[in-house]
Amino acid sequence: MTLIPVMLPRIQDALKQPERWNSDWENITGSTGRWLEPSVLVDSVAVPLAGQPLKMDASLLEHQSILRDLCQTQAHLTAVALTYFARENLEDRWMKAAPDLRGKHILIGLINACSIAKNLHDARVYCGRELTLSHLRSDGRTVLDLLKAVMLPEAAIPKQPKLVPHPAWDAFAAAQARGFPNDSKKYALASILTLRTKLLCHVIHFTLNSFVGVELPTVSVGKYNKKNNPGEPFLGREVSQAIAESMLGAAGAKAQAKEDKAAWKERQRGRTEHCSYSGCLKVNDGSAKFRRCTKCWENMQREILYCSTECQKADWKPHHRSICGKPLTFEAASKPPPLAPRAVPVPQIGPAIGTYERSPSLVYQITWLNLNSNLDYVVRGGAEETTLDLPDPEAQSLFRQYREKAMTTGDKQSIAIMAHFICWMTLDNPRFQLAAIVEQLKKEYVFDELPRAIHEMQQRQNKDPFRRPPLLAQMSPQNWVNFCTGMNVNRQVVLEL
Ligand SMILES: [Zn+2]
Ligand SMILES: [Zn+2]
Repeated sequence: MTLIPVMLPRIQDALKQPERWNSDWENITGSTGRWLEPSVLVDSVAVPLAGQPLKMDASLLEHQSILRDLCQTQAHLTAVALTYFARENLEDRWMKAAPDLRGKHILIGLINACSIAKNLHDARVYCGRELTLSHLRSDGRTVLDLLKAVMLPEAAIPKQPKLVPHPAWDAFAAAQARGFPNDSKKYALASILTLRTKLLCHVIHFTLNSFVGVELPTVSVGKYNKKNNPGEPFLGREVSQAIAESMLGAAGAKAQAKEDKAAWKERQRGRTEHCSYSGCLKVNDGSAKFRRCTKCWENMQREILYCSTECQKADWKPHHRSICGKPLTFEAASKPPPLAPRAVPVPQIGPAIGTYERSPSLVYQITWLNLNSNLDYVVRGGAEETTLDLPDPEAQSLFRQYREKAMTTGDKQSIAIMAHFICWMTLDNPRFQLAAIVEQLKKEYVFDELPRAIHEMQQRQNKDPFRRPPLLAQMSPQNWVNFCTGMNVNRQVVLEL
């Protein structure tokens, strides 16, 4: 039973006749029907569940897995977006694109995101005008703002997803929070807000992939557009793979990637049988029989499967014990099962201090540095990325002091000292282009006056009796000579900006 009084467009038409499918959607969400109001939409989900404990339990279980899925989706999207901001000049290119071109990519985003699954497709009713082509394409800012609303502060998997705000839904949620609603209403609202955010994440993700993929110069297209993976960004996968590797180790990440692929194939076939332990999540490839938890099946007809007794035991204490054989409460379902404890690297850069707001390019840089504590800087001296590593412990410690201050506070003086040093160190190296490095740093720190600031640092270096760059001004002359010999840098080199 549903309270929605109109026929929604059909999911299978999204890819078949996109324009028509989309305008049908826009007619519905652009109308002023009372049934589009949050209270009515919540009832349309909650009412059919009233007095149906088994249905309610299945819905809550599904909600829990959608929450976990959304956490991963957002971490992945954040990594992808950071890459596009840092390497593809996304912001400028998107703003400068003609509305028609933006519209073309947004439609690709919409049809692909809505084709993933029926629940995501129908979640378009919860988005209203937010997801209409005319609204999204006219001003480039709209999509970028939406992207910022779904991006996480860092590219790591969070405990709870970040829900996209919306005036009508937020007002409704606030009113409901005061009114002691029952579990089915609480669930209905939470699942609507989760699905809404999930749909928005996928639309943005596909839109950006399409935009960046189509616009890439010929050389790069060959490199990034891997065949058979039209929807998967090569750039983003590189980063999310690095995150997986740092958490699971190389072998673990490889195994997980394989399982993700198997899981995806399973989903395509419309049937998933995977181990319920969040530290495993192995997909049944048919070679073994997964056993289900008897108590859950008998009491609740809930199918909780495990690949092995080990996984069943591992899942018991931290998670399953509290829900085994009894109905899931809304509170329990609101917490995605914790990821199994894994060695998480200690970040080497601290969080931003005070009101300092980092640019996406800087967050991207920091993500890499935090994943690889041996790196000093990721430098894009042209098409390729190269890393700066300082083997000299004194120089490294000085460099990292300025880097920390620059990255946590945006202090201009620290940025200039560090930037001058990076440019000066890489000047003799044919792999780097000075102009490209300066552009990169300008963008990371949103510092347009950087060339002049670096020039001042060069003058300070020229005045130093030993010609030490300001970053190494406190190094003893003897150590300074040793440093230059060890690093094979020319002490006489002068930066011309
Ligand atoms: Zn397992
Ligand atoms: Zn059980």
